[in-house]
Amino acid sequence: MLKHKDCVLLTKVGSFYELYFHQAKKYAPLLNIKEAKRPNSAVSMAGFPAHQLDRFLKILVQDLQEHVALCEEIRSEFSDTIDRRVTRIITPGTLIDEKFMDPLENSFLLAIRLPAEGSTKNLVDVPRAFEEVAMPASVLEKPVGIAWLDISTGDFFTQLTTFGSLSSDVARVGPREIVMTDEDVQENGSKVLSSLELHQRPITRHKDTKGSASFKPWSQLQRGEVREEDPTSFKPLEMDAGSLLLSYVNERFQGMNLSLQPPVRLQSQQSMIIDKNTMRALELLGTSKEGLGGGKGSLLHTLRGTVTKSGSRLLRSWIASPSMSLETITARLDIVSRFVDDRSLREELTVNLKRTFDSQRLVQKFAMGRGDADDLVSLLKTIDATAEVAHLFRRNLPSFDSHTSNHGPVTPSDQSLYKLQARISLDGPKALADLIRHSIDEEGLMQAHRIEDGDRADLLPSAQDIGQNDAPSEGPSILSGLLKSKAKKKFPGEVISDDQDVWILRRTASPELEDLHQKFEALQMEKVSLTHGLREELKADSLSLRWTPGLGYICHVKGARDLSSTMQRSSVTRDVRTTKSTRSFHHPEWDKLGSRIDGARKGIRVEEQQVLRNLRGQVVTNLVQLRRNGAVLDELDVACAFAALAEAQSLIRPVVKDGGELNIVGGRHPTVKVGLEEQGRAFVSNDCHLGRKERVWLVTGPNMAGKSTFLRQNALISILAQIGCFVPAEHAEIGLVDQIFTRVGSADNLFRDQSTFMVEMMETATILNNATSRSFVIMDEIGRGTTPEDGVAISFACLHHLYYRIRCRTLFATHFHRLADMTAHFEHLGCYCTDIVEGPGESFSFVHRLKPGVNKSSHALRVAALAGVPEAAVETARNVLETLGHPSKTELPDTAHLQGLAT
Ligand code: ADP
Ligand code: MG
Repeated sequence: MLKHKDCVLLTKVGSFYELYFHQAKKYAPLLNIKEAKRPNSAVSMAGFPAHQLDRFLKILVQDLQEHVALCEEIRSEFSDTIDRRVTRIITPGTLIDEKFMDPLENSFLLAIRLPAEGSTKNLVDVPRAFEEVAMPASVLEKPVGIAWLDISTGDFFTQLTTFGSLSSDVARVGPREIVMTDEDVQENGSKVLSSLELHQRPITRHKDTKGSASFKPWSQLQRGEVREEDPTSFKPLEMDAGSLLLSYVNERFQGMNLSLQPPVRLQSQQSMIIDKNTMRALELLGTSKEGLGGGKGSLLHTLRGTVTKSGSRLLRSWIASPSMSLETITARLDIVSRFVDDRSLREELTVNLKRTFDSQRLVQKFAMGRGDADDLVSLLKTIDATAEVAHLFRRNLPSFDSHTSNHGPVTPSDQSLYKLQARISLDGPKALADLIRHSIDEEGLMQAHRIEDGDRADLLPSAQDIGQNDAPSEGPSILSGLLKSKAKKKFPGEVISDDQDVWILRRTASPELEDLHQKFEALQMEKVSLTHGLREELKADSLSLRWTPGLGYICHVKGARDLSSTMQRSSVTRDVRTTKSTRSFHHPEWDKLGSRIDGARKGIRVEEQQVLRNLRGQVVTNLVQLRRNGAVLDELDVACAFAALAEAQSLIRPVVKDGGELNIVGGRHPTVKVGLEEQGRAFVSNDCHLGRKERVWLVTGPNMAGKSTFLRQNALISILAQIGCFVPAEHAEIGLVDQIFTRVGSADNLFRDQSTFMVEMMETATILNNATSRSFVIMDEIGRGTTPEDGVAISFACLHHLYYRIRCRTLFATHFHRLADMTAHFEHLGCYCTDIVEGPGESFSFVHRLKPGVNKSSHALRVAALAGVPEAAVETARNVLETLGHPSKTELPDTAHLQGLAT
């Protein structure tokens, strides 16, 4: 506990994990276990059964965000002594295969390295609320190195980013834990961190003692596998971040051999950049209410038709960073089209995908020297399913290897699918699958689990009784002491039968194993004949040969008949236990045979472990292929999900190309539409044409008529297209968008004492500072949180800047209809509006269809009335509006005459 000061220490004692001293006091109530004391000792302790480790780790690591040091028992190979050592420190970002890990999301650990010189020191005196905006451009553009990895899959990435985009990068990666160096945190840490909004994620400080590039694990990883990229292209800051990450992980795993994939260097120009405001505003990964949990209403939720866990994770990462490569996007769309056209192929594929297990995490387990017989079986099933997928493609795709293909013209869809399936390689994996199939006895494995489960059920009550037991036995642990007494109670004077041998491997798994089994069987035969012999000799038909803990090898006879005379003759020494109805005694021959049987049994167990070790080794040999196959399955899974969605919601294939056009005919909002339809309402589709003719659309219209929905739907359609998904429209043509920015109705950041207007301006600054001519900007009602004059002025300035400086595609919704007049000379700006139609009497309805023109009325009062504002208040508002509508009367509306109205 002294050595690992920042950790909760869990010590393994027999079949329990225990906490001591103040930690027992503090965590017992949090873990809902009882705190106990040893007799004559003031030492507090608390514990839980070892097989429930995952459950308690979840509370400690995930819920309480503690670091947990696991102190395990190390059994010496040569003597019977047990040593204890901390083998691993578990933190929110360093999980391997814990059962509580979210299977649908990567578990990333992210390291950040800031540039060395005190380049951000000038920030320290800036008042809090102004940090982000006050960062001068020179600071915003400072390079920052980031590296992140998921230990459960081995995925490892680095990227060179800037101060300005760091917080968006963090939002995109969504790490469970962030690592920074002491110096970085001390020098410019807390200020920068709070301005980056990282504080909602646990940040761990770590002293990186090793130099960056010379750090061994980094250079080893670099050599690990040949990558297309030139390894020297990693920038020093990225390497610093990478080695900080590795050094931290190394310490957490206490030098355990972690097999990671070689780092992949991400470059910002490879994917569409979606900043954190946009991610939130468009509800890509989660709704605004619940953050990033992929909840209902989010794009992720709508798209998530994937049937495998790793497929879901891939989908999430695609949504967070849509592609900028035409080749990639086209290939993905090709495959989706193929699956839309060929439903039966898609459905057959899905059936097979469902049979796979989480291959990436599974394979990584083996890479780390873990993986048990169950994992081998899961792997076997996954390989079988992969082979079935490959077979499906062979049947459904024309052969491409011959130049003289007589299957007619090859469609691009077929070509893309062919390329994808060609990445599946089965030679090694198939042999591995056969080896597993011939080695593991699935029946036996299941039987073994049933027995284990039974044992656990026995353990449970004893663990819960722990606190009440005030006279615990001595020994290393009161818990295990208690356990023994329970175990005894369960078999009062009874004996444990030993004829329940369960083997998890087939006896043919190795020649040695076969041999051992034969010997074992021969001994069993000897036991049978010894039993018969003794029954005869002692005239005791119920005699059986057994072993019990405490007594050892015994002969057991039912019935209280006196056997003294016969026993004397057959060299039986003495009774070791007699009850009213049974008696047990030793016999030298059974002693000898019994220990030989036990020896043989132990031999089989040892050999089984050896065979399992070999199998694990074989998995590791096939690691690269298995990972690659897994990646293909993931992509197929996402493509099938996209195709199924396309069919269900009549999506169409977008045309994605270079250039600055954005032509959407009959576009719909993917999530709002579904929501409306669930209420039995219809969604009105809208067109959007941005590009050479009209670069900016100025959208006006009444409240509640669909301006915001229109803006967002076009952003979402662009994102969907670049993910490689079909889109909700009749026709869509999209020139690659490098960044999407949205400035949408604000979520107040009150806990950071930033006013609505401040937040709005900060987001505006981000857009105007970062957008390029290839970007797509969405501005929704900017300039609201201030006076109308200031609002108009700021809105105009934004429009002006976007139109003349940045020259990017822009959708701009506003209630300031004066802007239409002010921008009349903007040649490439179009005005569009939504409207309402009057119904009979006071009633009206919204026209959600956009039409050219400007709507000068926001119809705010009707919406107010609709929302239930009292009639009198609405009437007052109407009168004020009337006065305001005639500015010639007075500069300020004269409200004196209105006072009478209220009374
Ligand atoms: P605005 O921004 O103009 O105030 P919103 O975009 O917030 O309006 O839309 C308000 C509501 O109108 C939405 O919640 C939705 O229920 C409905 N709506 C918006 N667009 C459409 C549409 N195209 N078709 C049908 N209903 C729509
Ligand atoms: Mg709106």
